[in-house]
Amino acid sequence: MLSGKASDLVLKILMERTFIAIKPDGVQRGLISEIIERFERKGFKLVAIKLVVPSKTFAQKHYHDLKDRPFFNGLCNFLSSGPVLAMVWEGEGVITYGRKLIGATDPHKSEPGTIRGDLAIVVGRNIIHGSDGPETAKNEINLWFKPDELTNYTSNQEKWTYG
Ligand code: ADP
Repeated sequence: MLSGKASDLVLKILMERTFIAIKPDGVQRGLISEIIERFERKGFKLVAIKLVVPSKTFAQKHYHDLKDRPFFNGLCNFLSSGPVLAMVWEGEGVITYGRKLIGATDPHKSEPGTIRGDLAIVVGRNIIHGSDGPETAKNEINLWFKPDELTNYTSNQEKWTYG
């Protein structure tokens, strides 16, 4: 059994952060609270949040890995077409589990119970983005947020969530 301090340290090491964004379709369809609730209920902690309308250049930066895909231009036009709710969520395994909560890229292939499975129909309007790995998460958080927009706090729930 680890002492309180040692288990706090282990928890700190295991903690991850991921970038999650509700895209313009999710915002316009009134799905903000539904999506936030799913991350909160799981036990993840919200550490940054803001509503922004990204420029097309910014959208191109965010999706630069997809620049050679035929849908790239339409995707960047769409992301910059209205407010996006940008967030950073923290928790043990939040990068991988966040992707599970979100579901497959194509909502037709997303399982029921996932965000895209329950709330979206077509791939071009799949309502939410989530970082797909630790490196992407770091880069996306740095792209969307300034360091002083990221909060550091202990939630009272953590001792009940992690034991
Ligand atoms: P994910 O968002 O699941 O990480 P990708 O990084 O592959 O998926 O794609 C980024 C976004 O590009 C998707 O969420 C979706 O909005 C859009 N997209 C992906 N594939 C297509 C497609 N075939 N046609 C139109 N849009 C697509």
